[in-house]
Amino acid sequence: MVCRNCGSDNPNTNFFCHSCKRILQPALPESAQERMESDPAMRFLLPVGRSGLAIAAGYAGLFAVTLILAPVALILGILALRDLRRHPDKIGKGRATFGLVMGLLGSVFLALLIIYG
Ligand SMILES: [Zn+2]
Repeated sequence: MVCRNCGSDNPNTNFFCHSCKRILQPALPESAQERMESDPAMRFLLPVGRSGLAIAAGYAGLFAVTLILAPVALILGILALRDLRRHPDKIGKGRATFGLVMGLLGSVFLALLIIYG
């Protein structure tokens, strides 16, 4: 699979590009890609052109309800927002913010459990 970020060739089993460490995404026909990028709902479900950290933060945010992953979601959310600020071309701010907020709430709850539980 050819990396869409740096153009280097990777084995199809690679999840991250060996060269630039971005998440590899299967190439899509141009029209399908455009359709997806114009649809906000599809954009949320199918991460195209997103910051990999924002994706990770979003998923960690979802799993922050299990509390153990809340600090991970918080950290990923912060890293993702920093990454997005440095790369304004990337999208995924909603996801990153979601991860950060869920992570923050989960972390506070986890801390309370540890202190008072
Ligand atoms: Zn690459």
